[in-house]
Amino acid sequence: MRLRNIAGSREIIGESGFVVHSPERQKGNWPGIFGNNNPVHLEIGMGKGRFLMDMAKEHPAINYVGIEKYSSVLLRAVQKMEQEPAPLPNVRFIRMEAEAIADVFGQGEVGRIYLNFSDPWPKDRHAKRRLTSREFLSRYDKLLKPDGQLEFKTDNKELFAFSLEELEPAGWRAKEVTYDLHHDKGMMEGNIMTEYEERFSSMGNAICKYVAER
Ligand code: SAH
Repeated sequence: MRLRNIAGSREIIGESGFVVHSPERQKGNWPGIFGNNNPVHLEIGMGKGRFLMDMAKEHPAINYVGIEKYSSVLLRAVQKMEQEPAPLPNVRFIRMEAEAIADVFGQGEVGRIYLNFSDPWPKDRHAKRRLTSREFLSRYDKLLKPDGQLEFKTDNKELFAFSLEELEPAGWRAKEVTYDLHHDKGMMEGNIMTEYEERFSSMGNAICKYVAER
C-alpha cells in the first residue's frame, strides 16, 4: 500500500500522541508507555490500522502496537484514531521499517505478532525482505515471549507456501493452518477482517492463515 506523498503528513504524525517517536528509546519500557502490565501484541505492516483498532476495541486488556513504514499510510491510521468517539488507550503506532524491530522491543516484551497481507516481494533475490522469511523469524525470536505466537494471513498462495517452508529451518512450527479461513469454523472464531482481507475476499480469493510458535 503506497499512497502519494501527502503534504504535511510528517508534521501531523509528529504531533500525534498515538505515535511513539524514537521508539528505540522505549525498549524495555513498553509497560511505561501504556501505564500497565498488559500483554503487548504487534501488527507489522498495519496499513491504515483498521484491524489493530478493531482488535483493540474487542480486547481492551491487550496493548496493541501497529508498525508501518510509510508516513503517508500511517497518517490515515492517525486520522482514523482521531475520529474515534473515545480515544483507544491501548493503541500506539510506530513509523518504522520492520527490519529494526529488535531495537525497539526487549526480549519477551511481545506476546503476539500479526502479519496481515504482507508485501509478497515475488523476486527470489528479494526473499529476505518478506516479513515471513527466516531472517525476519529470527528477529521475532528476540522479542516474542517463549510461548508467543505469530499469526499470518494472506491471499497470496505462493507467499503462503514460501512462508510455511520457512518455519521449520528457523525453529518454528505451524500450530494451525488453513487455505480457506472464511470457511474454517474453528479458525474463524474471533476473526477480525483487515482492509486487504475484505478487499480480496470480496473478489472471491480464499484467505490462507497460519498460527505458528517455536
Ligand atoms: N495489514 C494491512 C495492510 C496490508 S499492505 C491489511 O491487511 O489491510 C502491507 C503494509 O505493510 C503496507 O502498508 C506497507 O507499507 C507495510 N509494510 C511493508 N513492509 C514493511 C516493513 N518492512 N516494515 C513496516 N511496514 C511494512
